[in-house]
Amino acid sequence: MEQFYLDFQPKLDFVNGKVIGMEALIRWRHPDLGIIPPLQFIPLAEESGLILRIGEWVLQKACQQNKEWLDEGFPPLRVSVNLSTKQLVEPNFVSKVKAILEETQLDPNLLELEVTESVFADVEDAANTLEEIRELGVHISIDDFGTGYSSLNYIKHLPVDMLKIDASFIRDIHENEESKAIVKAVLTLADTLGMKVLAEGIERKEQLKVLNEDGCKFGQGFLFSRPLSKDDFERFIKEGGYG
Ligand code: C2E
Ligand code: MG
Ligand code: MG
Repeated sequence: MEQFYLDFQPKLDFVNGKVIGMEALIRWRHPDLGIIPPLQFIPLAEESGLILRIGEWVLQKACQQNKEWLDEGFPPLRVSVNLSTKQLVEPNFVSKVKAILEETQLDPNLLELEVTESVFADVEDAANTLEEIRELGVHISIDDFGTGYSSLNYIKHLPVDMLKIDASFIRDIHENEESKAIVKAVLTLADTLGMKVLAEGIERKEQLKVLNEDGCKFGQGFLFSRPLSKDDFERFIKEGGYG
């Protein structure tokens, strides 16, 4: 596991400019091939089953790092970790999460797990498992929202705190009425269901302006910050974040 490390991308409340948390994103530093992005090895790791060990490593590291920052006096921030469907179907997944929280002494409230919509189509018990995790105090968000399983019926029963609108809807939101309408619909839906909404992949001021007008409050993207190394993330927080 020594060849893996985590970058952290800040998530912002762009109404007040404050950082609300950060997404842990895995990278693989290969001795010969250099840095390999997750989209190139996560699918292989899922096929081979190695994702279980990698996923557990990410969860442990992210919790440990977040606790370390707290102990060093940084403001409390929620760290989010991407989950693979394979992890969620592990029979002892909930106890693993519990054990990692106990071992690292991280407040469960400062951990968020990101799942994609497809888990609800693929895993029979996904909602129950997530509910158990949420009862520990851990937050749950739906990643890449809008691109996967499109039945909205499932969503009303879900133990979910936040919808992360996929970057594909944000990319052209400033010049495409359909994308704008979809984002507005998601905001209304989430509001009714008592969930928060975060826009992924914000790169341009024009996109932020439309999101602001539509009442979206949270975002993540290169406009605010790229994923950062541990040291750069610390600098970002010390310097007061974006803006
Ligand atoms: P994701 O969870 O949707 O993460 C967001 C991805 O979008 C990240 O790519 C991030 O660097 C990128 N991004 C953020 N803001 C912008 C922007 O403004 N413009 C553009 N063009 N891209 C932006 P990354 O780090 O390459 O990760 C890709 C995917 O790999 C993630 O998508 C996630 O599905 C997966 N992944 C990453 N780390 C893990 C992990 O620890 N476990 C699992 N199972 N999957 C992971
Ligand atoms: Mg994610
Ligand atoms: Mg995403």
